[in-house]
Amino acid sequence: MDTDFEVVIAGAGIAGLTAALSFSQMGLSVAIASPLPPPKQIDFRTSALLPTSVRFLQTLGLWENVDKAVQPFWTMRLIDDAAKTRGNGAITDFTSQDTGSEPLAYNVPNDVLRTALLESLSSNAVSIFDAKISAIETDQGQAITLSNGALLSAKLLVAADGRNSFCRSHAKIICHQMPSKQFAITCLLEHSEPHHAISTEFQRRGGPFTVVPMPGNHSSLVWIEPESKGAELLNLTSSELEVQVRRRAAGCLGKIKLLSKPQGFPIRPQIAQKFYAPYLALVAEAAHSLPPTGAQGLNLSLTDIATLSDVIAEALASSKDFNTQKALSLYERRRLPDALARFAFSNGLNLATAAQTPFGQGARRAGLSLLRSLPPIKRQLTKLGLQPIGYTPTTMQ
Ligand SMILES: Cc1cc2nc3c(=O)[nH]c(=O)nc-3n(C[C@H](O)[C@H](O)[C@H](O)COP(=O)(O)OP(=O)(O)OC[C@H]3O[C@@H](n4cnc5c(N)ncnc54)[C@H](O)[C@@H]3O)c2cc1C
Repeated sequence: MDTDFEVVIAGAGIAGLTAALSFSQMGLSVAIASPLPPPKQIDFRTSALLPTSVRFLQTLGLWENVDKAVQPFWTMRLIDDAAKTRGNGAITDFTSQDTGSEPLAYNVPNDVLRTALLESLSSNAVSIFDAKISAIETDQGQAITLSNGALLSAKLLVAADGRNSFCRSHAKIICHQMPSKQFAITCLLEHSEPHHAISTEFQRRGGPFTVVPMPGNHSSLVWIEPESKGAELLNLTSSELEVQVRRRAAGCLGKIKLLSKPQGFPIRPQIAQKFYAPYLALVAEAAHSLPPTGAQGLNLSLTDIATLSDVIAEALASSKDFNTQKALSLYERRRLPDALARFAFSNGLNLATAAQTPFGQGARRAGLSLLRSLPPIKRQLTKLGLQPIGYTPTTMQ
C-alpha cells in the first residue's frame, strides 16, 4: 500500500471525509488517518446546512445521494418560553422571505451524509487508515506515525481531528476556550401535528430547546442545559424523558414520541489562535468548536474546506507549491474573520438565551423586540447569518 501522499487528513468525521473528497477530486493523492467508528454506531444528530454549504456539496456530487432524507425549512421561529402570557411579543420569526426565495437551511441526518461521503470516497481512490496519529515530525513536509505503527508522509497535513486535536497540540497552537459548561441532548421525534417546515427554538433559562424539521411528521431535537441538569436528563428512562420533552414543547407539534435513543454532547466552545503551522492546516472543530445554538458548526467547517480547496487550486493553477507559508497564511486570512465573527455571535446568542438572571432575560427580550420593530435590520441580520463574512469560496457562490 502506498504511504506517500500529497495530503493526509487527520480525522474521519464529516469534515475530514468532505475534505478528502474535495482534495481527491482536484487530482491530489489523499489519505485519511483516523480511528473509524464501529459500523453499528449511529449518530442520530442532524445538521441544518445553509444554502452555501449545499452548493459546495452539490459541486462534490454528493447532494443527489442525500436529497431524499433532507428537509428544507423557510422559517426559524424563536419562542420566549418565559413570556407565554405576552401574546405576539413571545414569538420572533426569521424567514427566507427576508433573504430571497431559497430556504433558510436544509436539515440533513449526519449519518446519511456520512454514508454518502464514504460511498463517494470509495470511488475516488482515497486510502483510509483506521488508526489515530500518534506522532508527527515536521521537516520539508510531514512524517506521520500512526498508532498501529504505520508511517505516512505528506506534503500537507490537514487537521480535522476534532476539538481535542492532536495535530493542533503538536504544532503548539493555542486555543481560546469559553468557560461554558453546558450539555446538548439530541434525539429524533415523531409528532402528530405537521411542523410546516418551521424550525422552532424555545428560549428558556439554562439553554434553548430546539425542534428542527425532518421529512414527514418527524423532527430532531437539540436540547441544551447546564451540564449537571443535562446529565440528569440523559439518565432518565425513555418514557420519563418523553414526558419532559412533551412538557417543554408545550403542545407545539401535537403528541410527541421519541424515535431514537437520546445522545449527549458536552458543549465546549473554543477557537484556535492560528489556523495553520508549517505544512499543517486546521479545519473544522480542530480550528473552532461552536455551541449548537445558531446551527453554524458544520457550516463553518465546510467553508474552511471549500476555502482551503480554492487556495490549493489557485497554487496548482500557477504551478506553485500548495503547502507553502504563503498559501497557508492566505487560507488563514480568508477564514479567520468569518470564524471569529461567528464564534462571537454563537456564544453571544447562547449566553443570551441561557441567561439565568432577570437582567439577562430582559436584555434578550428587549433585543428581540427591537428586531421585530425594525424589519430592515432583521432582514440584514438574517442575510448575514447565511453568507460567509469576507471571502466566499467559489464553490459556495
Ligand atoms: C448537538 C449538536 C448539534 C449540532 N447541530 C449542527 C447543525 O445543525 N448545523 C451545523 O452546521 N453544525 C451543527 N453541529 C456541529 C457539527 O455537528 C460539528 O461541527 C461536526 O460534527 C464536527 O465535525 P468534525 O469532523 O470537525 O469533528 P468530529 O466529528 O469530532 O471528528 C473528529 C475525527 O477525528 C478523529 N480523531 C481524533 N483524534 C485523532 C487523532 N489523533 N488522529 C486521527 N484522527 C483523530 C476522531 O476519531 C473523529 O473521526 C452540531 C453539534 C452538536 C454537538
